[in-house]
Amino acid sequence: MKRIIFWSFISLIVIPLTLYQSPQIKFKLLEIFADRVKLSQDFMSNDSLNLVLCGSRSPLAAPGRAETCFIVKAGNDLFIIDSGNGSAANILAWNIPLNNLNSVLLTHLHSDHIGNLGEVHLQSWVTGRTGKLKVFGPKGTKDVTAGYELVYKNDSIYRNEHHGDAVAPIENFGFETFIIKDNQVVIDQNNLKITAIKNCHDPVHESYGYLIQYFDRKILISGDTDHCESIIIAAENVDILAHDILSTDILNLTQARMEKENMLTRSKIILDVQDYHATIPEVIDVMRRSNAKFLLTYHMVPAPTNSLTESVYVNLLDNALDNYAIGEDGMVFELPIGSEEIIQTSLQ
Ligand SMILES: [Zn+2]
Ligand SMILES: [Zn+2]
Repeated sequence: MKRIIFWSFISLIVIPLTLYQSPQIKFKLLEIFADRVKLSQDFMSNDSLNLVLCGSRSPLAAPGRAETCFIVKAGNDLFIIDSGNGSAANILAWNIPLNNLNSVLLTHLHSDHIGNLGEVHLQSWVTGRTGKLKVFGPKGTKDVTAGYELVYKNDSIYRNEHHGDAVAPIENFGFETFIIKDNQVVIDQNNLKITAIKNCHDPVHESYGYLIQYFDRKILISGDTDHCESIIIAAENVDILAHDILSTDILNLTQARMEKENMLTRSKIILDVQDYHATIPEVIDVMRRSNAKFLLTYHMVPAPTNSLTESVYVNLLDNALDNYAIGEDGMVFELPIGSEEIIQTSLQ
């Protein structure tokens, strides 16, 4: 027995540690790390409709997750829908070529959807975006883009002086802003159509989801919304419905605990937040009534941080749906044209 323990120790601890100290082994490991660049190039080269979840959490903290963000890639066209905190770092880490970024579409102007717009602007600017960054969003979006231009004004001068016009041309600094309306076709190019659908997020009256159509494939991103008829109608037969989702069980426990600890303002926020996001049973109802084929949960309130909190979502969804995924940062859904297939991979 002692001999088995001795040799297990040598093979499991001593040999790997010795190998890890070797410069050649370290170099090999670094090479594998550098290969991640290839990962996003693979994703960029297909002809399918692709959805990448670049931020899966709501404003409630959840380590390892960014606030709301999607990348949509159709053919060679690349779009970002919402740009919450932490999502720009994800995009940078996954080597998504932001020089190809066509535009950013905002669902609404809550801070957890616009917090990284300045960084997305910066990263696309210094990697070769042609022209100013186009941003589509609801009434009020011009305030947001003008504000970011002001915040990054000094930075743009430093970077232009440091890197020169070839890398950071001043004429491409800044935004071109477009205001969206209900049922407006916001993007219509190269067989890709993206339509704004007003959702139910009162008191945010200007709040939208986006219906994405590329040849025969369809995705609906709900935006932040309560259970909402316009979303059910727009989601009819879509290949993927990405919907915000809220667990009343977890929030009620959290709120009761906060009250007990006299954290009264945070407790009120946890109570208020339940007014304008769809609960798990409501999202299941949207899936049933819309006949959507696959559910992707995102903007989870709260996003699971362990298997216990994840099981709260899974237990209810498992009983009701055949095809769904609990959203995680880095998930990629590839929808090949002329097929029903959904190929799920990850950039993490
Ligand atoms: Zn939100
Ligand atoms: Zn919101």
